[in-house]
Order: sequence, then structure tokens, then C-alpha cells
Amino acid sequence: MHILLIEDDPFIARAVSAALESEAHVVTYAPTGPEGLAALRVHDVDAVLLDLGLPGMDGIDVLKNIRAMPAPKGSLPVLIVTAREALESRLEGLDAGADDYVLKPFHMSELIARLRAVARRKGPIAGDVLRAGNISLNTVTHAVTVGGDVVTLSKREYALLAALLVRPGAVLSKRALEEKLYAPGDEPEGNAVEYLIHALRKKIGSDAIENIRGLGWRIRERAS
Ligand code: CA
Repeated sequence: MHILLIEDDPFIARAVSAALESEAHVVTYAPTGPEGLAALRVHDVDAVLLDLGLPGMDGIDVLKNIRAMPAPKGSLPVLIVTAREALESRLEGLDAGADDYVLKPFHMSELIARLRAVARRKGPIAGDVLRAGNISLNTVTHAVTVGGDVVTLSKREYALLAALLVRPGAVLSKRALEEKLYAPGDEPEGNAVEYLIHALRKKIGSDAIENIRGLGWRIRERAS
């Protein structure tokens, strides 16, 4: 799935993103409500994970703004995340059109299970296809094709390709990729990213991923 995460706490955001990405989901992250709404206009996401306690525009207002959008965005599955003591705002959140809520602190496995459940309840998901050149990746079915041919990737190869495809042409550092591919506490081997890039190039074409010396890697926007 492609998930929009609206959360102002960078520590929670990082942990949630890493957990989702390690399960091969694609995460678009926004630290404020207005940035979240802007991201929603640009990306076709499958579900929104929304923190209620946001600075500036409050989570409930973000939710109301989402519900005011024309379909299909207005009816996206929204899972709200809120502190245990904020009982009143939780009820208000459900009234404002949230599909479900999770209390902080939460177990990552519970969060992911709830997210899957709300997304499933909304019926079949159209899917967001990320593309660059002749490569396409469906964030719901996880199908990856190169020039129309289906390629089979490991979970980490898929997550690596998805991370690069979210912003074709943008360079991702080794550190940034490690953070996307490994959950906190699951420390990768020193050359793990390089090995994955090597394995992925063998499957999708050696020219597809470009190394920018000293900076990192990016996906080529056009097939060469
Ligand atoms: Ca917060």
C-alpha cells in the first residue's frame, strides 16, 4: 500500500515509516496538516495515518478537510493515532469520519493490522503505480514490471525500488535507504545496501539505477 503519514513527532514518524517500509509499503511523510493535505493532492495513496495532536492545523481539521475532498480522495481510509488521555478528541475523530483509531503508545504490529483492516473495509483498492522509464511498480499488488515483463523481487529489493521510485531522479543516500529498509534496532551489515542495489540491477537492468558518487543512488527517469 501507499500510505500518507501525517505526524509531527519525528521519532514516531521514523519508527512508523521504517516498520511500514520493512513490510514493503510505500510511505509519504508530512509533518503538518497543510503539508499532508498538499501531499494528498499530489499522490494517490491507499490510506492515511493521521496523528490528532498536530501543531497549527489540528488533526480533526485535517480529517474534515480530507472528507471534504471530492471522491475518491474524500473517502480514503483514515486511521487516526491519538494519546490515551485524549478520549474526547478520539470520539470527535470518529464523528468527523475516521475509520478507526489507535491509541498511543501502540505496538507497530497492531498499527499495521488496523491499517490493513481499514484499507480492506473500503473495498478493492485501485492501486498507485509508481513509474520511471520502462519500470512500473504497483504499491498494492506489489507487481513490478520492466518493459511489460513481470520481475520477481525479494521484500527488501521491492522496498528499495519503491523508495527510489517515489521520487524519480532524486538521490537517496545510503543512510536514507538504510532507514527505509531496516526497522530501528534491525541494524544492516555495512554493505547491505550496496548488495541490494547490485541484486536489484541484475533484475531490472544495470542502467536503471545510477550511482552518484559520494551522494547515493537514484532511479533513471528514462530508460536508456
Ligand atoms: Ca503529535
